[in-house]
This record gives sequence, structure tokens and C-alpha cells, in this order.
Amino acid sequence: MRKQRTAEEYILLSLSGILSLAILPFWFVRFAASEWTMTALDSFAIAIMMAAFAHVYVTGKTNLAGIVVSVSVMIIVWASVYVKGQGQLFWAYPALVATFFLVTLRLAAVIVSVFLVAMIPVVLLHADLVLGGAFYLTVIANSAAVYAFVYRMQEQQKLLSTLAIRDPLTGAGNRRAMEEKLVELVDLQNRRVSEVSLIFMDLDNFKAINDKFGHSEGDEVLVQLAKIVAERIRSTDTFYRYGGEEFVVLAENTNVTGVLKLAEELRTAVQACKILQLHHVSISSGCAQYQAGETGSEWVGRADAAMFQAKDEGRNLSRAA
Ligand code: GH3
Ligand code: MG
Ligand code: MG
Repeated sequence: MRKQRTAEEYILLSLSGILSLAILPFWFVRFAASEWTMTALDSFAIAIMMAAFAHVYVTGKTNLAGIVVSVSVMIIVWASVYVKGQGQLFWAYPALVATFFLVTLRLAAVIVSVFLVAMIPVVLLHADLVLGGAFYLTVIANSAAVYAFVYRMQEQQKLLSTLAIRDPLTGAGNRRAMEEKLVELVDLQNRRVSEVSLIFMDLDNFKAINDKFGHSEGDEVLVQLAKIVAERIRSTDTFYRYGGEEFVVLAENTNVTGVLKLAEELRTAVQACKILQLHHVSISSGCAQYQAGETGSEWVGRADAAMFQAKDEGRNLSRAA
């Protein structure tokens, strides 16, 4: 199945699509009027936009296409002002706005600055001083406003995506994040040979802690446990709250023996934590290494079954599927 297109892909596809269609009538006008320089310029613009569209459509990659489109648009605006005069200056505004959406903010600032400097001789050549001054003032104001807008938007996006994938209580990844990661890992596993394993952990007799000490103490236990796990795992491991008092650790490049060792280390770390021992907290874990061909939920299911075996054998244990 094809992955869903990203916002960047949509921006590039619509922009390059619309631009190639929008320039087309101008191409005919220039061609009919035998304005060969402008015809060549429009042909170049249409070819670049169509190539960018096709590249993004087929590969889904946007970095290079974003740079090529924004730099070409700047060159086209520059050249058309040079050839046709000050009437073409208006095209600088949409071109500048588009640049801030097409490449990283820093790169956009560089491209726009280079463009504005390169425009100085062309503006001096064609526009009078008042118009040239107005052009620079409005273009700078326009760029600053778009920069601020895109910056704010990106900050908001970062905040939203953190909110969407983190469990608010423990700071662990949430179940949605885990399911996305499972899809990614299963996909990778079916393409290359390396090992990936998971631990399914469940707090023992957690209901009793809630019943005896109240839910806020129960919450505090969950937070402490998440802290212990987050401190112990490697940077390539990821950690999720599956639900209630159940957590999942995904360990890349780790086989079942390795992950069982990690589960035991986490179990003894919980035993060594003074705050948790006030409530006699322990964990039972089930470990499973990914087996070729199984789905994410089958994989989690095997670890879950191993966890239940640990519960059956007396709790405070780690078992492998
Ligand atoms: P076992 O050893 O068999 O796992 O027993 P248990 O009591 O841990 O298992 P059970 O599934 O019966 O209880 C889980 C409890 O976890 C039930 C619910 O009250 C509690 N719980 C789930 N989510 C939260 C939470 O966010 N905060 C608190 N304080 N408790 C929660
Ligand atoms: Mg449970
Ligand atoms: Mg439990």
C-alpha cells in the first residue's frame, strides 16, 4: 500500500501543477507575438514545473524539488523583469511567499536575500527611484510577515505532533505512536535482515495500589516506572504506554535473548527503586522477537501471552514467547 502523501508533497504538487498551467496561456501570447526570449523563458518555467511535479508525484521526495522550484521561480522573475520591465515586478510577491513554503525557513531567507540583491541592477535599469524604493519596502515587509507566519505555524505543528504521540501522564509514547512504529518496523523487517524485539510489561497487582492508596498515588507509581524505563533503555529503543498499567518497549537490533536480559534489568531496577518499593511494586514482562511474516498485532499478542505466563508462574518475572 502507498504511504499517505505529506503536507509538503501536496504543497509542491499543487504549486508546480498550478504554475505550469498558469504560465501556459502566457506562453501562447508570447509565442503569437513572436517574443522569442519570453517564449523561451516560459518554456523553461513550464518544463521545470512539470519535471518537479512528476518527480514529487512518483518519488514522494520533496527536498530537491522544493529547492529547484523556488530557485527557478526566482530566476524566472528576475529574467522577466530584465526583459519586459517593471510591470513584471508584481510576480516577485507570490514567488517570495511560495519560497517560504517550499524550503526550510533558513534556506528561504538565503534565497530571498540573494534574489533581492540580484534585483538591484534590474530595478535600477527599469524602474524609477520611487517605484524601486516602494518595491523594496513592500517586498521586505511581505517576506518578514510570511517568515513570521511560517515560523509560528511550524512551532504549532511541532507542539501538536508531540501532543498527538505522547501519553500526558507518563511522557511515554502513546498507543497510536506505538502502532505507527510497529508498521514501520514490520515493513523494515520484511526488507532487511536484522533483529527487533519487544517487551510487554504489566504492573503486578496494580489495582490493589489504587484501592489502598488512591488513584493519585497510582498515577505517581506509573510516572516513576516510566522514568526508570526511560533512563535505562538505549536511544534506539522506544517506549510506549499501551494502556492503563501496561507498557511496551521496542528494541531494535536486539534478539530475544538480549531483550529478555533488558526485561530482567528493568524488573530489578523497579525492585531497587525506593519510592516504588513503598508500594511493593513489581512488573511481569513478556518478550518476543519479530518473526518474518507476522503482523504487528500478532507480534504484540505473543509478547502479551508470554506476560500472562509470567503472571501465572507467580508474577515479578520475565518470560520469552
Ligand atoms: P495483575 O497483577 O494481574 O496485572 O493485577 P492488576 O491489579 O495490575 O490488573 P488489573 O488489570 O485488574 O488492574 C489494572 C488497574 O490499573 C485497573 C485500573 O484501576 C488501573 N489503572 C489503569 N489506568 C490507570 C491510570 O491511569 N491511573 C491509575 N491510578 N490507575 C490506572
Ligand atoms: Mg493490565
Ligand atoms: Mg496489572
